[in-house]
Amino acid sequence: MSKKIFVGILVWSAVSAVLSAAAAVIITDCTINGESIRNLILFFAGFIGLSVLIASVISMKIVRPIAKIDLDKPKPISGYPELDRLTERLRIQNSRINRQVNELSRNHDQFSLITENMDEGIIIADKKLNILTCNSSSMRLLDVKDISAGQSVYSFNNSEVFRRCIQNAAGGRNSECTVETCQGESVVIASPAGSTDTFNGIFILIMDITEKRKLEIMRREFTSNVSHELKTPLTTIYGISDMLAGGLVKSDDTAEFGARIRNEADRLIKLINDIMALSKLDEAAGLSDAEETDLYELSAEILARISENAMERNITMKLSGEHILYMGNRTVLDEVIYNLCDNAIKYNNDGGSLEVNILEAHKNIIITVSDTGIGIPKEHTDRIFERFYRVDKSRSRKIKGTGLGLSIVKHGVMYHGGTVRIESNPGSGTVFTVELPECISAGR
Ligand code: ADP
Repeated sequence: MSKKIFVGILVWSAVSAVLSAAAAVIITDCTINGESIRNLILFFAGFIGLSVLIASVISMKIVRPIAKIDLDKPKPISGYPELDRLTERLRIQNSRINRQVNELSRNHDQFSLITENMDEGIIIADKKLNILTCNSSSMRLLDVKDISAGQSVYSFNNSEVFRRCIQNAAGGRNSECTVETCQGESVVIASPAGSTDTFNGIFILIMDITEKRKLEIMRREFTSNVSHELKTPLTTIYGISDMLAGGLVKSDDTAEFGARIRNEADRLIKLINDIMALSKLDEAAGLSDAEETDLYELSAEILARISENAMERNITMKLSGEHILYMGNRTVLDEVIYNLCDNAIKYNNDGGSLEVNILEAHKNIIITVSDTGIGIPKEHTDRIFERFYRVDKSRSRKIKGTGLGLSIVKHGVMYHGGTVRIESNPGSGTVFTVELPECISAGR
C-alpha cells in the first residue's frame, strides 16, 4: 500500500515539475538553447529528487498508523479519526471470526467426545480418500496403530474387499463388506458424503461382529446337536415299536422291549426339559420373581430326591453348613444344585461319598458340592460347561445324561450374578464351588 501511495505522489510531483518547467519557459519567453535546456534538466532532476524524498516521507506517515493497528484487538488510534471506521470493521470482523472458531472447536470437541466413546469405529475421508478424522474404535476394530489425518483411508486396510467397498462409496453407492483381523471380524459400511452430483468424501462405519458370529456358530451347533440327540432315542423307539407292531418280538421279550422304550422316552423327556430350562435361562424369560429360599432346606430336598440312586450304588450323602436365606429364583437354584448333586452320584464310584456344604463368606454365599468320583481330566475342565460337551462320549452313553446339566448350572449361577468354579483330580474326585453374591439374612 505504501508503495502505491509513494508512486502516486511521485507521479504527481513529476507532472508538477514538467508543468512548472513549461510554465517557466512560457513566462520568461526565453529562447531555447543548449544552456537553458541543461538548466531545465537540472531543475527537473532536482525537482524529481525532492519529490522522491517528499513522497517517501508522506507515504510512510500515512501507512505508519495503519501498521500500528493491533489486528487481534483493533482500537481507534488517537489523532487518526479517518481510521476509526477501519478499526471498527476490523473489531466486528474479529469477534465474528472468534465466535465461529469457538463454535467450530466446540462442535469438534463434542464430535470427538461422542465418537471416542463409541464402540463402533468411524472414519471420515475427503474426496481424495485421505482421512479427515477417525476414532480410536476404528483403529482397534481394524487392528491398526498410529493412523493420523491426511493418510490414505487404505492405511486402515489394504485388502481387496475393503478397497472395493471404498471404491463403491467413492463412486456414489452405499457399500458393505466384512473384514477379518487378528482381533476378530468387523462389518464395514461405507457411504458417499454429499448430494447426488457432488462427491465430497466418504463416511465409514465399522461394527464388531465377532460375538455375533460366535453366537451364530454356537446356535448352529446347538441346533444340530439337539436334532441329533432327539433323533437317537426316537429312532430306537421307532425301531422297537415297529418290531412290536409287526409281531417280531417274542412274548417273553415284550417286557424288556417295553422297558427300553420307556428308557428312551425318559431320555427324551429329560432332554426336552433341559433344553427348555436352558432356553428360559438364555432369554431370562418365563422365570418367576425372586423369592426367599433356604438353601440348606432346598439342598436337603434335592438329596432326598436322589437318595434312591445314591443307595443303589451305596454312595453316602452328607449335608453341612448353615441355614441361609437367599433371595433368588427357587426353580433355577433347584436346577443348579440338583444338576451338581446328580452328577456327583452319576460320576461317583460305588461306595463313594457326596457332600453339599452351604456357608456365607464376605456377604457371599458359597455352595460346594464335592464327590469322591472319577474326576475330570484337566484338559476338559474348561469345556465341560459347554452345551452337549461330555468328557468321554462312550462312557457317558452308559451313564445317562444329556450333556446340558453343567450348562444349566453355569447359566443359572450367572442369572443370579454369581460364578462357578471347579477343582478336580482324576481318580479322587471333584469339587464344584458356586459363589452367589449378597444374601438377605442368615442363620435361624
Ligand atoms: P451330563 O448330562 O453328561 O452329565 P453335564 O453337562 O452335567 O452333562 O456334564 C458334562 C460332562 O462333565 C459329563 O458328561 C461328565 O463327563 C463331566 N462331569 C460333570 N460332573 C462331573 C463330576 N462330578 N465328576 C466327573 N465328571 C463330571
